[in-house]
Amino acid sequence: MYLLKRQIRRLYEQLLYWDFLYYIKRTPEVSDNAYDCARDELAYLERCYPGLCICSRSGLFKKKKHILPMLSLRTTYNKEDMLLFDKRIRNRLKDKPEADVVYCCEIKLDGLAVSLLYKDGCLVRGLTRGDGIYGEDVTSNVLVIEAIPNKLLNDGSLPHILELRGVLVMSNYGPNILTRFSNYKSNYYSTPRNAASGSIRQLDPTITSKRSLSFYCYEGHSILPGTSPLSISHIANLNKIISWGVPVCEHRRTCVDIKEVFRFYDEIKRIRFMLGFSIDGIAVKLDSIEHQKKLGVSTKTPKWSIVYRFSSEEKMTKLNKIVFRVGRTGILTPIASFNPVSVSGVTIRAASLHNISFIRRLDIMANDTVIVRRSGDIIPQVVRCIPKYRTANTKQVVFPLYCPSCFSLLTKALTKDKVYLYCTSGLSCPSQLKASLKHFVSKYAMNILGLGDVIISKLVDYGLVLNSYGLYYLKAKDFMKAASIGLNLSHKLVLRISNSKRIPLSRFIYSLGILKIGRLTALSIASSYKTLNSLLLADITSLASIPNVNIKAASNICLYIRTHNNIIRSLASILDIF
Ligand SMILES: [Zn+2]
Repeated sequence: MYLLKRQIRRLYEQLLYWDFLYYIKRTPEVSDNAYDCARDELAYLERCYPGLCICSRSGLFKKKKHILPMLSLRTTYNKEDMLLFDKRIRNRLKDKPEADVVYCCEIKLDGLAVSLLYKDGCLVRGLTRGDGIYGEDVTSNVLVIEAIPNKLLNDGSLPHILELRGVLVMSNYGPNILTRFSNYKSNYYSTPRNAASGSIRQLDPTITSKRSLSFYCYEGHSILPGTSPLSISHIANLNKIISWGVPVCEHRRTCVDIKEVFRFYDEIKRIRFMLGFSIDGIAVKLDSIEHQKKLGVSTKTPKWSIVYRFSSEEKMTKLNKIVFRVGRTGILTPIASFNPVSVSGVTIRAASLHNISFIRRLDIMANDTVIVRRSGDIIPQVVRCIPKYRTANTKQVVFPLYCPSCFSLLTKALTKDKVYLYCTSGLSCPSQLKASLKHFVSKYAMNILGLGDVIISKLVDYGLVLNSYGLYYLKAKDFMKAASIGLNLSHKLVLRISNSKRIPLSRFIYSLGILKIGRLTALSIASSYKTLNSLLLADITSLASIPNVNIKAASNICLYIRTHNNIIRSLASILDIF
């Protein structure tokens, strides 16, 4: 009994601490899964040994019991587990015709699960999932969320009392959307689920109503008359729910075998970053309600369902130093270099920290312990730091006063709510020159093959190129001297540079590397002005009237033309721009 008491206290204190990190500090340090396990274990022990309860974990909202337990779903990242899941189900249903085993697959939204109770079609109660048995009463908040219907359409099939379950998600989840709510770090939500949770758990419902929350229903039950499913299959349930005017996520499919499930998984994985909200995998459920009943439920999860998650592995590592890299436009980007760590099978060792505001918002310090991941499974990203692992070696980030490349005094630039450091030396700053040459020769600009970063860097270091125009006067011996490459390759490079001279106007505009002028904008400008000479005479108003060119881009072009007139005219004199 003593051990049990100690275990309950340990779980209780651990959860209190994690709640504090999650809800107050917005810096969760454990996975949702680890949190859910601890919470469910505590709830189980408290139910079995009510005499040992410390006290109910009090919150801002009243706890209410769910009519039917809101079980969590089993999750996996492994294909093998999915094959086993399928095998187990087919074994259990071997007395049924093979063709009857059908799965319904839906996307698994990364948000906050809620239960909504409707009486005669009117929304009367909203609970968060909580521990699955008790949830927090957030009725006053769900009533003001536009995406949740307060009244259902009644086609005559509506149960007297109906429970709908669904997920609240922050639409178009992105750092901009989240930070827009407040400039204070304490109000920054680090994950989509955190954002939805923070939005619904507002004491003032008007704040909730202003958040762009979407709601997608994933199941429903008739509570009265009698607790029962709505129809004979999961997909039919969803269609019924849609007919009552409730949003259900459109990305779902019935699959006749596990191969089709894998195909759906792959398709969703490909488009997941274009969906406008965050998802973390697909939920696979047996479609037939009769089959679901036959499979039954284990202590925590239904046996007929599983979530096949996309890997978005996060790893902890040690941040060693932050260096500042000067880009093409003079903006300094802080780069965090950390101890190499393998994330989803790829070793990463550095990540961009974007700007001063980002470092301040995440409260990152030199020598911090940080959590890293690969954003979109590709780009290394520092997610947060863990202040409790700080030592005497951890130091505030020192922002440079002078450009690390040309040593000129830096200026601070403020765009929207972000603060950048900025070197104003232009092409006389070696780093800016290298970056702008790299852009100039790139595939969608002048497309000069073989002129890579290393060669460009050496040419600049030797003082052989001062601007893009200078590239056209390089001789084979220059390449041999600066980049230590052979005569043949040097001749080839000279020839390739020379061959790049005939170029469409749009590519030439893009190659100049003007801030905010991408390929599409360059194309719009070229098709409006037709010739370089007429573009050189353009003013901001006429430029801004072109499709895809906003006032900022238009003023950048005018400024560039004014400050780089000589280079543009020199290039025009040797290029064949059409
Ligand atoms: Zn500089």
